[in-house]
Amino acid sequence: MCIFCKLVNKEIPSNTILESDEFLAFHDINPKAPVHILVIPKVHIDSFNEVSPQLMAKMTTFIHDVVKEVKIEKSGYRVITNVGENGGQEVGHLHFHILGGARLKWGHFSDADPQGHF
Ligand code: AMP
Repeated sequence: MCIFCKLVNKEIPSNTILESDEFLAFHDINPKAPVHILVIPKVHIDSFNEVSPQLMAKMTTFIHDVVKEVKIEKSGYRVITNVGENGGQEVGHLHFHILGGARLKWGHFSDADPQGHF
């Protein structure tokens, strides 16, 4: 069973912010910003590649609820999902990072030439 499924099953503890029948939001154990929350579906889905538009629609509503709960909807935030090796995905259970609480940086995401692919 994957680590986030264990979290859903309460086999390992999480610092939960919000929970519904289908989704869970909890603090990232290694925060990269003052607010760093992970949102996951309770059902195991490997990554964004496999998620259905129907579940994404419900997850969008849940993410809206989470950012209201932690009061960052006005100050702003970033939603990220890493997919696969190049995306830097470390946990193979779909999750959305919600980052905020301070002005976030933006810049080059790789050492490769940004003009190089197309
Ligand atoms: P990613 O690199 O997109 O797969 O992100 C995985 C994230 O999960 C990282 O930011 C980790 O800090 C976080 N993480 C891993 N294990 C736990 C855990 N038990 N509780 C909370 N966050 C976790």
